[in-house]
Amino acid sequence: MRTTIERRDLGPRDVLIEIRYAGICHSDIHTVRGDWGQVPYPLTVGHEIVGHVTEVGAEVTKHAVGDRVGVGCMVNSCRECENCRAGLEQYCLKGNVGTYAGIDRDGTVTQGGYSTHVVVDEDFVLRVPQAIPVEAAAPLLCAGITTYSPLAHWNAGPGKKVAVVGMGGLGHMAVKIAVAMGAEVTVLSQTLSKKDDGLAFGAEHYHATSDPATFEALANTFDLIVNTVSAPIDINAYLRLLRLDGTLVSVGAPPQPLPVQAFALFGNRRSFAGSSIGGIAETQQMLDFCAERGIAPEVEVIDADAVNEAYERVLKSDVRYRFVIDIDSLR
Ligand SMILES: [Zn+2]
Ligand SMILES: [Zn+2]
Repeated sequence: MRTTIERRDLGPRDVLIEIRYAGICHSDIHTVRGDWGQVPYPLTVGHEIVGHVTEVGAEVTKHAVGDRVGVGCMVNSCRECENCRAGLEQYCLKGNVGTYAGIDRDGTVTQGGYSTHVVVDEDFVLRVPQAIPVEAAAPLLCAGITTYSPLAHWNAGPGKKVAVVGMGGLGHMAVKIAVAMGAEVTVLSQTLSKKDDGLAFGAEHYHATSDPATFEALANTFDLIVNTVSAPIDINAYLRLLRLDGTLVSVGAPPQPLPVQAFALFGNRRSFAGSSIGGIAETQQMLDFCAERGIAPEVEVIDADAVNEAYERVLKSDVRYRFVIDIDSLR
């Protein structure tokens, strides 16, 4: 539904952004449907935002009018806690301020990117390199950093075997980034329907998880498994695919708890971990990395009035691989 929302007046350290494209993240759908708890309606979602700067506050030094910029999943944090001081604002001990449905420093509820403009503190605004096509840049701000951060943290690179579970919005970016980092990448997807794409993105192997033989053939294989699936999966079956000291990191968020057997962890001294987006500095690093390596998400651009239909298609995994809203269609 189209409506009018208020943005705060530009403060001295704020940047006014005219939005060009906003990606559709699975989290947007979970949020508006109330899957993750109460929703402060009316709410505008969207945390994969790309546009350009049209006005800056008097004290802004990091961005200038005309710059191509992006905003991801958070727009502020306490800046004082141990994690914020370490550049890990996503793990702010007081809770980072989400780009939508968060409580901003002025006490108002934050509103996301399915809108024409947004006002954001300059420290939470990213530079989007010109080498990345503007419409494809949007999904990097959530799907890109959510997969880049664990791949970087657990040292995906030459000599490492990395498996990506799920070939959706997050999964296809995990494949491209892990390949660009130099890892040997395997896709583990329910079926082989996206195999050609996976290999085109640089994966060396592609297996169907609906085939029990996959789990026998790949036992004790991977240094790192990135699980991007937001539905419950048999985590123990995947843990057994890790080799010595391997880690399975989940970035998908199923609403239900996942049962983990201690014995699945004992063998090969395995770890089961989680990871949430990335800090601002790391997000910038990811954007620069993607620009340098010439990688970008695969997107399907839609008009704003097609959002509801797009949500249905995302829920059916019927998108290759991320919907991006052309915000000009809102003007
Ligand atoms: Zn997201
Ligand atoms: Zn903090």
